[in-house]
Amino acid sequence: MIVMKFGGTSIGSAEQIRKATAIVRSRMGKGNPIVVVSALSGVTDALIALANGPQAGRHAEGKLDWIRERHYKVISDLGLKKGLIDKELSQLDKSASRINGPGDITPKVLDTIMSFGERMSSRIIAAHMAESGIPAAACDAYDAGMLTNSDFGNADILPGAYRLIRAALGKDGPDLHVVTGFIGKNGRGEITTLGRGGSDYTASIIGAAVGAERIEIWTDVDGIMTADPRIVKSARNVRLVSYAEASELAFIGAKVLHPKTILPAISKNIPVRILNTFNPSHRGTTIVRCIGNRKRIASIACKRRISVINIHTPKMFLMHGFLRRVFETFDMFGLSVDMVSTSEVNVSVTLDQRHDTRGLVKELEKIAEVEIKSNMAMVSVVGNGLAYRTDLLSRIFSTLSSVAVEMTSSSTSEINQSLVVKDGDADDAVRHLHKAFFGS
Ligand code: ASP
Ligand code: MG
Repeated sequence: MIVMKFGGTSIGSAEQIRKATAIVRSRMGKGNPIVVVSALSGVTDALIALANGPQAGRHAEGKLDWIRERHYKVISDLGLKKGLIDKELSQLDKSASRINGPGDITPKVLDTIMSFGERMSSRIIAAHMAESGIPAAACDAYDAGMLTNSDFGNADILPGAYRLIRAALGKDGPDLHVVTGFIGKNGRGEITTLGRGGSDYTASIIGAAVGAERIEIWTDVDGIMTADPRIVKSARNVRLVSYAEASELAFIGAKVLHPKTILPAISKNIPVRILNTFNPSHRGTTIVRCIGNRKRIASIACKRRISVINIHTPKMFLMHGFLRRVFETFDMFGLSVDMVSTSEVNVSVTLDQRHDTRGLVKELEKIAEVEIKSNMAMVSVVGNGLAYRTDLLSRIFSTLSSVAVEMTSSSTSEINQSLVVKDGDADDAVRHLHKAFFGS
């Protein structure tokens, strides 16, 4: 079996849905595809805006019209029956009408509202496939065993779910399943979501559950690139990367993959391919466990809008328990840190700038001097080669000799060297590094 996931832009219009269908057809008979779909592009954002409408003082009704028309247009362009998603639309209307003020928008309510995007797209795509001769049926992931915890908005799969999913989807049947990405249900039967971009994760969970021979992530770019092409014009596709490299890149925010996607694939050693629906003959990127002894740099990634928190205490010298106190304080405020670097008297960490750190700083000031620097960026050089070759490390630092580097850190996997620079210097840093390692 193979799992084929199509993202929102890959199914964003009737034309795209036809292309996606042709791609699925090309795989039939060569591995029995299970299809996983995102919501049509723009729909999840619109559903969030719909839920927040009453709070923002906007008339939510306009959003519902937009969502309805967005789907009706695709349905009519595909020549399908208009009533196809009317049940979902009226349930959505009902759920949204229960929100009368900010207090009503709980993470649980938001998850139910967000779930309609995938519930509608899966029905449209299955109907179109059926019309074009592929025996397909829409399937809500929670009816196929996608059992999660109750962490609404960022739910995770429960271990028992793998067995349930295998029982539901693991046998070749007459129908090709078009499964909703992104959504699941907890043990109480309440709808949950796996975090924004979570359809990738759905695909790899299903892939691991059924023991797929391959997971294909169909998106709108040619796979993982040597750098963000908006920053580096000459950036190019990376054909083969390891699970470890891909995870580092996804966590740094390379946007091509949901960060958790690789985990289920690793557990079953399933290759993940990132492919472009807009350029289907391109080889894309293949992610596998072992890339042999390719001692090279895979990609230069960049994460914007981060803050550096410097926690300084001369008393830390030779004192034990200090780091524990520091990280307990982060934990207390539910803040997860990206990068950490320590010296005898100093701990520096980076955080996403969007987090409110006022409480954290107040608490940390009880034990140390605290300084926050915002508008910083993390530039990361990721690649298998770093684990073996110290000359690559020195090349990184000499390349950036003209840029003020605030903080540095290597990951324990030794395949990531990250540097924090001022946000305004980040593009230049990425360009210089790209030139040094990829020649342009
Ligand atoms: N539709 C969801 C989102 O926009 C999930 C996904 O696209 O993967 O975040
Ligand atoms: Mg995505």
